[in-house]
Amino acid sequence: MQFSYTQDQQDIRAKVREFALTKMEPTSEERDEFERFDRDIFDSIGELGWSGIPWSQRFGGGGSDFLTYAMVIEELSRVCASTGVMLSVHTSLASWAIHTYGTDAQKQTYLFPMAQGKKLGAYCLTESESGSDAGAMRTTATKEGDAYVLNGSKLFVTNGGEAEVYIVFAVSDAQNKQKGTTAFIVEKGMEGLIFGTKENKLGIRSSTTMELRFEDCRVPADNRLGPEGEGFRIAMRSLDGGRIGIAAQATGIGQGALDALVAYQEQYGVRRSELFDASFSEMASHIEGARLLTYQAAWRKSKGLSYGKQAAIAKLFASDMAVKVCLRAVQLCGVWGCLKESKVERYLRDAKVTQIYEGTNEIQRIVISRLLLSETT
Ligand SMILES: Cc1cc2nc3c(=O)[nH]c(=O)nc-3n(C[C@H](O)[C@H](O)[C@H](O)COP(=O)(O)OP(=O)(O)OC[C@H]3O[C@@H](n4cnc5c(N)ncnc54)[C@H](O)[C@@H]3O)c2cc1C
Repeated sequence: MQFSYTQDQQDIRAKVREFALTKMEPTSEERDEFERFDRDIFDSIGELGWSGIPWSQRFGGGGSDFLTYAMVIEELSRVCASTGVMLSVHTSLASWAIHTYGTDAQKQTYLFPMAQGKKLGAYCLTESESGSDAGAMRTTATKEGDAYVLNGSKLFVTNGGEAEVYIVFAVSDAQNKQKGTTAFIVEKGMEGLIFGTKENKLGIRSSTTMELRFEDCRVPADNRLGPEGEGFRIAMRSLDGGRIGIAAQATGIGQGALDALVAYQEQYGVRRSELFDASFSEMASHIEGARLLTYQAAWRKSKGLSYGKQAAIAKLFASDMAVKVCLRAVQLCGVWGCLKESKVERYLRDAKVTQIYEGTNEIQRIVISRLLLSETT
C-alpha cells in the first residue's frame, strides 16, 4: 500500500486550486443567488485539459487516472460544488458510458469532443414515476427502420439544456422489464428533444437541473449505445462510478466549509477555545476519512478492480460527513453563518443534495448491505 501522490497529481491539484480561487470563487455567490450556469467555466476546464482526465489521448483525454480525476472534482467543489457536479456528470456518467460501451465511431463523434471540452454531457435516467426505482421508467424507444423513436420525459437532468450530448435510457421491450431497457446517445438539436422547466433548487444552484421531453424524437440506430436490452446495466454501472465523483464533491464541500470557518475566525479575531479546537480536529478527521474512502474507490477503478462497494461506501460516508461538517461550521460561525457572505450556508445547502442524487443514501445502505452479505455467503 502506498499513500503518496505523484508529482503530476500534486501539480494538478495546485493548478485546480489556483483556477478555482481566481476564476470561480469571485462569481460563486452571484451564480448561486441567480442560478447562473457559466459555460465559460466549462470551456476553461476543457482548455486546461480537465474535461477528460481519465480517457486516453487517443480519445482526446488527459491520459491520467480516476484518482487524479477525483482530486480535481474535490478541489473544484471546495470552492463551487455546482462546478464539481457539472464535471462529474459530464465525466463519470456521460463520457464513461460512451468510453465503455461506445463504438469507435461514437467515440470519435462524441467522446473526443467531450474529452476536449467542446461538448458537454448529461445523463437522463430519472422520471416522475421512477427515481430510486429506476426499473419503473416509462420512456419508450420504438424501432422504426434505421432509427428508434423516443417518447416520454426525464426529470432533474444535470447540465440539461446546456449539454450537447445526452445519454438517455428508454424501454425498447416492455415485456422484458429491466432487460428491455436500451441506452441512446441523443444530441441537442435532434427533432423531438424538447427542453422543459429548469428547477429552482435548494443547493448546487448554478448547475442546471432540467426536465427533458421526447416527442417522437427520431434517434439514428447508430446512436444506440451498447446492445439492445443492456440499458439498465449501463445505467447502474455508470452510477457505480458516478458515486466516486459525488464522494469527491462532498469531500470538497466539507473541506470548503472548514476553510470558511478558519477564515471567519481569522477575519473576526474569534477567541480560540477548547470547543473550537475539538470541533476543528473532529471536522478535519471526518473530512480526511471521506477523502481516503473516495481515493480508495477511485484507485480501485483506475486499477481495473471492483469498486461498486467502495464507491457506495465513499458516497454514503462523504455526503453524510459533508452535511455534518457544514452544520457544525454554520453553528460555530453564529449569526454570520446564516448570512450569504459567510459561504458556509451555501456549502450546507450544496452538501444536502449530495445525500440525494446518484442514489439516495437510503439506497446506498441497501446496496452496501447486499454487497457485504454477498461476500459472506
Ligand atoms: C440536484 C439534482 C440533480 C440530479 N441530476 C440527475 C441527473 O443528472 N440525471 C438523473 O437521471 N437524475 C438526476 N437526479 C435525480 C436523482 O438521482 C433522484 O432524485 C434520486 O434518484 C432519488 O429519486 P427521487 O427523488 O424520485 O426519490 P424517491 O425514489 O421517490 O425516494 C423518496 C425517498 O424514499 C426513499 N426510498 C425510496 N426507495 C426506498 C427503498 N427501497 N428503501 C428505503 N428508502 C427508499 C429515498 O431514499 C428517499 O428518501 C438529480 C436530483 C437532484 C436533486
